[in-house]
Amino acid sequence: MSDNCKIAIYPGSFDPITYGHIDIIKRASIIFDEVIVAVAKNILKEPLFSVEERMVLIENSIREIPHIKVESFDGLLVDYASRKHANAVIRGLRAVSDFEYELQMALMNRKLNESVITVFLMPHEKYSYLNSSIVKEVARFGGNVDSFVPPFVQEKLLVKLRHS
Ligand code: ADP
Repeated sequence: MSDNCKIAIYPGSFDPITYGHIDIIKRASIIFDEVIVAVAKNILKEPLFSVEERMVLIENSIREIPHIKVESFDGLLVDYASRKHANAVIRGLRAVSDFEYELQMALMNRKLNESVITVFLMPHEKYSYLNSSIVKEVARFGGNVDSFVPPFVQEKLLVKLRHS
């Protein structure tokens, strides 16, 4: 990619990826030349899927969207963003409840590295109540998650829950 190409990182747990995340990735891909979806190796959270499994689920969900890369990272997000020569970090804002935490993160990241700009994108309102935890909860109790995650993710979710 050339030097003036605009690169964004979309970091998160993606445990698993949902239509809400995909909505944000599509919007980011309109603005940026390249979007790197970056799975955080967060040791504090106990994920259902391994980092590698989450990356496979993302790759299968974004095939139709151009100029997307899927990676994983650990350590400070701003350090990873610098290594990738990223211009921006993308975060999704669903509701006011997201705002306080996201503002705190964005300001801390700015303090750590002035040159990393956080960009907030809003999903379609039909995804505004959606998150990975609620999808896992619904699937665990046999509810239908068709409208929350792509078929491939649903399939892997049901297999995983059957074995956990
Ligand atoms: P994290 O542990 O970093 O919050 P998540 O996978 O839960 O990881 O979320 C990653 C990003 O995607 C966050 O910015 C979050 O606000 C956003 N996000 C999650 N679900 C949705 C959704 N349904 N619509 C829009 N953004 C979302």
